[in-house]
Amino acid sequence: MNIGKYSLDEYSRLAESFHGNVAPGVLIGGIMVDAALGRLNTTRLYDAICETHSCLPDAIQLLTPCTMGNGWLRIVDLGRFALTLYEKDTGRGVRVFLDAGKTAPWPEVRNWYLKLRPKRQQDLEALIDEILKAGVNLLGFQDIEVLPLFLARQSKGEIALCPVCGEAYPKNHGPVCRGCTGQSPYAGPG
Ligand code: ZN
Repeated sequence: MNIGKYSLDEYSRLAESFHGNVAPGVLIGGIMVDAALGRLNTTRLYDAICETHSCLPDAIQLLTPCTMGNGWLRIVDLGRFALTLYEKDTGRGVRVFLDAGKTAPWPEVRNWYLKLRPKRQQDLEALIDEILKAGVNLLGFQDIEVLPLFLARQSKGEIALCPVCGEAYPKNHGPVCRGCTGQSPYAGPG
């Protein structure tokens, strides 16, 4: 079995080094990205949308040129275990999701996906085994077109210096940076 351009072993090693371990979500995520690449089948540049923060973004970053840092991967947190790869210029692409209806023959996958059992009662080895056996049979596919609003590059616009902290920030955030208007995650200054 190959995942993207990697053998399963190679992908597992990459996942371990990048994600910390070969989590079930990164494994099924790799299978999803591989399937999406096959279906998109384009020579044009493409972007990615991921609908969850969990695991799946790392599979996308491992297997495509799309990363959070280069802006080609965007998380639109709809809370669904799904991703879309789409052509930058046309907005046309393919959405791949983990289809709950297709998990019925795979009890470990179903338990994990729908959290039917606490994590410590899940059998990780059996789960990984089912994911590898089931593969693309767990997935649903949709042809989609990304809304023009989401296609537009989001520019930071003009930069200002915050009068409170002195750091640079996008001027369109307002007269003071967000860090100085109560949105900082830190206790005390900063
Ligand atoms: Zn500030």
